[in-house]
Amino acid sequence: MSSTVAFVGLGHMGGPMAANLVKAGYRVLGFDLVPELLTAAAATGVEPAGSAASAAADADVVITMLPAGRHVLALYREDGLLAAARPGTLFVDCSTIDVADARAAHEAAVAAGHRSLDAPVSGGVVGAQAASLTFMAGGGAAEFAAAQPLLAAMGKKAVHCGAAGAGQAAKICNNMILAVSMIGVSEAFVLAESLGLDHQALYDVASTASGQCWALTVNCPVPGPVPASPANRDYRPGFAAPLMAKDLTLAANALRAGGVDAPLGLKAAAMYTAFAEGEGAGLDFSAIVRTLRPQNGT
Ligand code: NAD
Repeated sequence: MSSTVAFVGLGHMGGPMAANLVKAGYRVLGFDLVPELLTAAAATGVEPAGSAASAAADADVVITMLPAGRHVLALYREDGLLAAARPGTLFVDCSTIDVADARAAHEAAVAAGHRSLDAPVSGGVVGAQAASLTFMAGGGAAEFAAAQPLLAAMGKKAVHCGAAGAGQAAKICNNMILAVSMIGVSEAFVLAESLGLDHQALYDVASTASGQCWALTVNCPVPGPVPASPANRDYRPGFAAPLMAKDLTLAANALRAGGVDAPLGLKAAAMYTAFAEGEGAGLDFSAIVRTLRPQNGT
């Protein structure tokens, strides 16, 4: 196994992911712009570095877990991450970013003499803590194989989706399905309410019929039928609406760039963006059901 990992971005996801690498026996050099996060990471065995570049200089693998593509590209290019690393270092970006940005990051890494993989995740903070994330990887087969032991230390599944950017592509396609299906399930419950049909009755039919999907059977948007779903705890996330809005914005950008006509995906992006900027800011994405009722009632 590669012995030293530089981990840049120790936030909600990166913090526990880096801690799991330490638990698996890796030496982890960590960096974040927020000093408190560096201190918290040190308590889990991560060695704090003075800068991202200094961490990368001593590492065999550099993992980034950052908010958006501009952060990844700025670190790679202007902040000297690529320049500081030894030739042949494996760069693994686990952030959720634009497919175009992921490809640009890959090209910059390769041009600097390095190896590169995009490997966004699903599973959220709970999955990051429990090392049960799913990774969707884009890049060469050799790079994917080299990253496997690290991904296995942070998650339970890793799928090689194709060339550079394919991991990000898989992530936004999956979340577009999820958003559209959540809105569809929510609309069906609202229609059931207006027809006097019980939530549980609709659930009992649809969960074993052709309406079955994750948005219904795991993250059911109304309280009752699925006790563990966020609807039963006042829509405390779960998967927060602003994160869904972010992923759908990436999907909408890719749809427009590719000239793909996806009316439901674009509508879902617009609905979740408005919801996340308003009442959905601190809620699970399934709370979108509240906006669909007549006069926005309960
Ligand atoms: P976060 O904001 O908690 O963490 C990002 C960290 O990056 C912050 O601590 C920030 O200080 C740091 N950072 C930014 N620029 C930096 C720089 N130049 N150098 C060093 N550190 C820098 O976000 P998060 O929830 O951990 O999410 C990270 C990524 O994972 C995002 O792309 C997000 O879309 C994706 N994601 C999040 C979840 C989730 O449930 N939170 C789930 C799946 C995917």
